[in-house]
Amino acid sequence: MISIKNVSKSYGDTRALKDFSLEIPEGGIMGLLGPNGAGKSTLIRILTQIIEKDSGEIIYKGQTLDHSHIGRFGYLPEERGLYKKMKVGEELIYLARLKGLSSGEATEKAINWVKKLDLKDWWNHKVIDLSKGMQQKIQFIATVVHEPSVLILDEPFSGFDPLNAGVVRDLILELKKSGVTILLSTHRMESVEELCDRIVLINKSKKVLEGDKQQLKDSYKENKFRIRIKGNGIGVLEGIDHQLVEDSGLESEYLIKPRTEQLASSLLKSISEKVDLVAFKEELPSVDQIFKQVVNQSNHG
Ligand code: ADP
Repeated sequence: MISIKNVSKSYGDTRALKDFSLEIPEGGIMGLLGPNGAGKSTLIRILTQIIEKDSGEIIYKGQTLDHSHIGRFGYLPEERGLYKKMKVGEELIYLARLKGLSSGEATEKAINWVKKLDLKDWWNHKVIDLSKGMQQKIQFIATVVHEPSVLILDEPFSGFDPLNAGVVRDLILELKKSGVTILLSTHRMESVEELCDRIVLINKSKKVLEGDKQQLKDSYKENKFRIRIKGNGIGVLEGIDHQLVEDSGLESEYLIKPRTEQLASSLLKSISEKVDLVAFKEELPSVDQIFKQVVNQSNHG
């Protein structure tokens, strides 16, 4: 869908992106991760054509990315901003028309969206008269009203209470289901765990990790397992390091790590012969753990 090839960008002496390449496949949600100052916003601003790259190439659906593609992109910036004195309906239609929709199309789509988000009664009210949460929803509608193929979301949940964050999450999943390609930049790791299919990690202007989330978890796993047993007689297991997670008296939970690499199936067999096993699960690293490990390595490597 989008090929980013060897893109570099500096602001004066500050290098923000260095020789950055990334393939964003069509559909699905890609998490854009990285510490503050890594270069994420710079990448987003280049993709949304707010700023120009210094060098490199970006191909969108086989064509060099240019202004003719702006209408295919939707961008929800972290710093939100609407024209507060405009009326809700007017503003949504205006923003959709800026993205190339006809007046009729813009009106129809804007009406559908305000209905969908229960804001129909506010159509003729000025944005400034809406609550902060409602303004945030209007901003979300403004991002998607023109039905973009690529949606770039920068901390989309910030400013929402838990209930409305759930509404936005469901909308994001619905858009993904309809085939929209989504780039999600966030520091909320639980959102990454829940929503992202792929992740790309930037550190100090360079890509340091990229791939399918489950495959990355699989390749960073550490031969650890989480088990629950009746009682707490873990001591009978030989050649296995263990760490108590919880002991309720009747049952206990441990993280265990065999000192030699073993297949999960043979480990399960050997320990179930010695303890009364209630549950057994391979322990995969969280995205947060992978993030910290890779950023650390890249800072010290
Ligand atoms: P992130 O979004 O990951 O926090 P940015 O892309 O905003 O990172 O920043 C990357 C680097 O570029 C940082 O060192 C930042 O200070 C610098 N930078 C970003 N925008 C500007 C700007 N407009 N002028 C000068 N330096 C900038």
